[in-house]
Amino acid sequence: MADDADVIVVGGGLAGLVAATEIADAGKRVIVVDQEGEQSLGGQAFWSFGGLFLVDSPEQRRLGIKDSFDLALQDWMATAGFDRDDDRWPKRWAEAYVAFAAGEKRDWLRAMGHRIFPVVGWAERGGYDAMGHGNSVPRFHVTWGTGPGIVEPFERRAREAQNSGRLTFKFRHRVDALSISNGAVDGVSGSILEPSNVERGQSSSRKIVGDFTLRAPAVIVASGGIGGNHDLVRQNWPKRLGEPPKHMISGVPEHVDGRMIGITEAAGARLINRDRMWHYVEGIRNWSPIWPRHGIRILPGPSSMWFDATGKRLPAPLFPGSDTLGQLHYIMSTGYDYSWFVLTQSIIKKEFALSGSEQNPDLTGKSWRMTIKRATNKRAPAPVEAFKKHGADFIVRDNLEDLVAAMNALSGDNLLKLEHIKAQIEARDREMANPYVKDAQVMNIHNARRYIGDRLIRTAKPHRILDPEHGPLIAVKLNILTRKTLGGFETDLDSRVFGNDGQIIRGLYAAGEAAGFGGGGVHGYRSLEGTFLGGCLFSGRNAGRAAAKAV
Ligand SMILES: Cc1cc2nc3c(=O)[nH]c(=O)nc-3n(C[C@H](O)[C@H](O)[C@H](O)COP(=O)(O)OP(=O)(O)OC[C@H]3O[C@@H](n4cnc5c(N)ncnc54)[C@H](O)[C@@H]3O)c2cc1C
Repeated sequence: MADDADVIVVGGGLAGLVAATEIADAGKRVIVVDQEGEQSLGGQAFWSFGGLFLVDSPEQRRLGIKDSFDLALQDWMATAGFDRDDDRWPKRWAEAYVAFAAGEKRDWLRAMGHRIFPVVGWAERGGYDAMGHGNSVPRFHVTWGTGPGIVEPFERRAREAQNSGRLTFKFRHRVDALSISNGAVDGVSGSILEPSNVERGQSSSRKIVGDFTLRAPAVIVASGGIGGNHDLVRQNWPKRLGEPPKHMISGVPEHVDGRMIGITEAAGARLINRDRMWHYVEGIRNWSPIWPRHGIRILPGPSSMWFDATGKRLPAPLFPGSDTLGQLHYIMSTGYDYSWFVLTQSIIKKEFALSGSEQNPDLTGKSWRMTIKRATNKRAPAPVEAFKKHGADFIVRDNLEDLVAAMNALSGDNLLKLEHIKAQIEARDREMANPYVKDAQVMNIHNARRYIGDRLIRTAKPHRILDPEHGPLIAVKLNILTRKTLGGFETDLDSRVFGNDGQIIRGLYAAGEAAGFGGGGVHGYRSLEGTFLGGCLFSGRNAGRAAAKAV
């Protein structure tokens, strides 16, 4: 049987698009199959904040940040905590990826028209020691145009390749099996789903109207992770984090269903680190949902006070923005799967960013006029104010008594005692009298404000939470929000997939979230943030180039 293409790419998300454009640019014929309609091209990346991990960039240097490959690798290794035999390839990927982030990543993107917002964010700040988890310096570079701005260059290249006949899209084609001949993967087969005109990101019908078979000497699996499938998340939930949460919300569309992972495993591919995942603890229910159980992650600045379900302040250094997995671990140990932020209007205005392209019309729409208002406005950005007004998890009150009563009513658990919360807030507020303090969170706030980027748009001027001048008071009920799959198919640096016998499966490649963003888990246990899109770029590029060369 004749081949339909040189390479088949399963998945039209960022990793798939990057791989496909590299293949087409190498002069080969490529087919991209995706179960969703054309309107969802770009997958999760379109919805993303577009944050990218870069090291020693001109943006960092302009802000006086001194970063280096050595510092970034130190942070990465401390954060990843690689400790398994299975971490052999993930570790090699990590070294290669940090070199990419410190090297050609920015210029490669820039040559395609990608641009970066000039204020670099400081995600996952850690708070342990220099060899502990976290970014020693700000490294989160937001794409000017957020998620759509990172998809755009690759979609443009893909459309050019489509026009020249080297790339073919097959939307509403769902792969159900990989075909194997003489031990080599040589194609895919699956179901044609009925046409769908749902809006981008909404769940589409799974009604089958036909079937298909496609042949090619190489297949790249770039089908994303499992975050939209809560059953799979619970099934793979690591014992070290206790029982899986009873209640979770979804930070990803329903097409992030993990189904293709099972299909690829059934073909003999070796899935490693399946118990490593990256879910957030600052999830809020979207009052205007696009996909089922749609949740939004708050990217918090450092000042909100954080209480567990029983009203106890989270221990140091589990402050907002410090250690996502440490917070998840702590929260699950309380026996409840939610927690609370308590803050003021002055804090929400400056410190609440919502992750997602649709929640940041200023950055997504590339509007300088709107973006500058982040620094100058009295109110929070419009989408944050909308959550304050309509969000089921937001409570706004003029005094603490009413606030705590409403928090108890919202959770229904009645665990919060006014005097207990009040004592903790007042103790923290007394630390405001001096510029030097005992309270580690307040110290953290002072430290953050030494970084000009934080002082400008991310960290409120220190003030008393109970100072009415900074009110009203706000409480936010925080849910666990599923997002990223850190484990995946074990691959070498050419993104070639290993089989269960430890040998490369000929013809099979994996990229993006399905490959644990490279190697089967380039992040180890934890992420420094902005590393997922970057992992799709790097692993997609490696897969595309290697597959094009091999065929
Ligand atoms: C709201 C949000 C904010 C984010 N912010 C950031 C950020 O700021 N920085 C960062 O680094 N990362 C961020 N991320 C994460 C990042 O966007 C994703 O990890 C990344 O885009 C995953 O890309 P992918 O190509 O691997 O998979 P996906 O985008 O999931 O694409 C996979 C594609 O494969 C298709 N598919 C699956 N199974 C099949 C099958 N059997 N047959 C055919 N097609 C199939 C799916 O329909 C989908 O189109 C964010 C994610 C979200 C949702």
